Amino acid sequence: MPRSVYIGLLHHPVLDKDGRVITTAVTNLDVHDLARLARTYDLAGCYVIQPLELQSKLVRRLMAYWLEGAGPSYNPTRQQAFERVRLVKTLDEATAEVTAETGGRPRLIATSARPHPGALTFSAVREEIAAGGTWFIIFGTGWGLTPEFLATNPDGVIEPIEPGSDYNHLSVRMAAAIVMDRLLGRS
Ligand code: SAM
Repeated sequence: MPRSVYIGLLHHPVLDKDGRVITTAVTNLDVHDLARLARTYDLAGCYVIQPLELQSKLVRRLMAYWLEGAGPSYNPTRQQAFERVRLVKTLDEATAEVTAETGGRPRLIATSARPHPGALTFSAVREEIAAGGTWFIIFGTGWGLTPEFLATNPDGVIEPIEPGSDYNHLSVRMAAAIVMDRLLGRS
């Protein structure tokens, strides 16, 4: 029985390098790696949140290949990962789907490389997840989730991964793996 934990990869609204609010293109590798992450930690779903139709077409093609095309016979474990992937246009759509599926609105937890006032600690969120409920951990693309998004949408923002150096530019794939292991891993 998968954990009642979902992850979301947000392509809009996110920041570009100049701090403007944009919509990012989908990175094929992000979908593969977050799908594998979702299956590895037995998450209920991995939402690719992408409002652009052309980009959504790409994701649908990718999903079709790994779920029905030549993919499953070539790599059945990747097929299992892609079975966790869900494509929607907005976070509201994803949240509504999870609410309908679980009978309750999920706790939305956002992530950022930048410190956020009142951020939640990994250990506190880990304990709350273990206690139950439905959780939706949101990761950004581009240069991260917008300050407006962080201030209004989530029920909380989790503390950044602190590398202890002067360089903190993890890819979303790397960051998602570290965050989910801290929240759910056995170590
Ligand atoms: N500077 C951006 C920021 O502050 O989030 C980094 C963007 S990074 C390419 C894309 C996503 O990976 C972020 O939106 C966040 O979800 C996650 N991420 C990257 N570094 C992180 C960190 N040190 N701690 C937590 N999440 C991180």
